[in-house]
Amino acid sequence: MKLKVSAVLAVGAATAAAAIALGSPPNAVAIPSGPGAPPSGPCALRGISNDVAESADTPAGFARSSGVVRALTLFIDFPDARATMSPHARFAEFFPAATDYFRISSYGRLTYHPIPLFQWIRMSRPLAAYGIQRGASFDPASDSGYHALSQEVVRAVDPIVDFRDYDVINVIASPNAGPPATRTVLSVTFSGGDMGMKTADGVPFRNTSFIWSRQTGVSAFRVLNHENAHSFGLPDLYYTDERRATPPVGHWDPMDEDWGPSNDFVGWHKWKLGWLSPDQVHCAPHNGTPGEHTLTPVSTPGGTKIVVIPTSPRTALVAEARTRGLLDPTVCRPGVLVYRVATDVPSGRGPLRIVDATPHSGGCYKSSKFVEPELTDATFLPGDTYTDHTTGAAVTVLTENPDGTYRVRVTPART
Ligand SMILES: [Zn+2]
Repeated sequence: MKLKVSAVLAVGAATAAAAIALGSPPNAVAIPSGPGAPPSGPCALRGISNDVAESADTPAGFARSSGVVRALTLFIDFPDARATMSPHARFAEFFPAATDYFRISSYGRLTYHPIPLFQWIRMSRPLAAYGIQRGASFDPASDSGYHALSQEVVRAVDPIVDFRDYDVINVIASPNAGPPATRTVLSVTFSGGDMGMKTADGVPFRNTSFIWSRQTGVSAFRVLNHENAHSFGLPDLYYTDERRATPPVGHWDPMDEDWGPSNDFVGWHKWKLGWLSPDQVHCAPHNGTPGEHTLTPVSTPGGTKIVVIPTSPRTALVAEARTRGLLDPTVCRPGVLVYRVATDVPSGRGPLRIVDATPHSGGCYKSSKFVEPELTDATFLPGDTYTDHTTGAAVTVLTENPDGTYRVRVTPART
């Protein structure tokens, strides 16, 4: 049987930036409006089912993404790149910040427990001997690459770790191993299907993120959130083929940009991850009647988060309100964000694209090298209408209410 292994990379980027530090969450995030639930109904579009994708349902083999998620967290170094810091200090570069991020973004519906094994696991060979490069694969027939690294890690900890107890695995390398992230981002996740390697506990070794080097800026920990989100089933939104084009999502989701100042996940991702209750998702199916909806900003717990307007069995328009918030400090044009999801478009090929209300404007947030500015002013404001001329689907922003919510009128697509 042919092995299907999804190798999904961290976002590449260049240098330093200023941003708002991720502070303590407000108490309000602990009060979701109801239990989260996996997507269902006519707007829960099906699509690619054997890899990370925008399909509403997440296939078997990926990690759970709501409730309690347990993350075995291991530390590796190399004979030619011995750690010069304690594993505790390396751990502190990511936690508790990454845990806080997941709790706030999920409105308290994802409780992420990193379980560290505080020792450096020394690999047997120099780093170069493993042939780790950006895009390196996991080949169970190979004596190098990620398979060789993983075998050594598993052999080292199998006697003391029961892999059945964990949902995801983080393997965090000593920061002096390999190139700086500002030059080459190596961080990668092998998620979903059985990769062809088992632990002594009988479970496949999978849903594993390898974190290399250091990103810069105050929310550099988000590389871990990005990588773990692949284990939850989310695709890369930036172009992994490195085509020269404006990123399709920009700073509206960390699956496109996970450098620099913080950014929150789009509502479609929160739905897919089980962080929304059914009443927080409004569906405007084909040939339905136009209707009005009140959207509570993604950064505010509670309320309706998205209106989904299917435009075909594999595509939809989605509308959500985005305003400045704890995880969204860079929003410079609060309003209604409209985007297209395509559940049949592979990871890294633009499965989610923002509709730009102000094309070629140059954007409104230009103070960070890590934020591609063009789409930062993509939101629609009261009085604006976006119409998809192929299907007639439309979103009109009616008002911004005094409580910060937005009233929108939605016209479903015609078949
Ligand atoms: Zn990625």
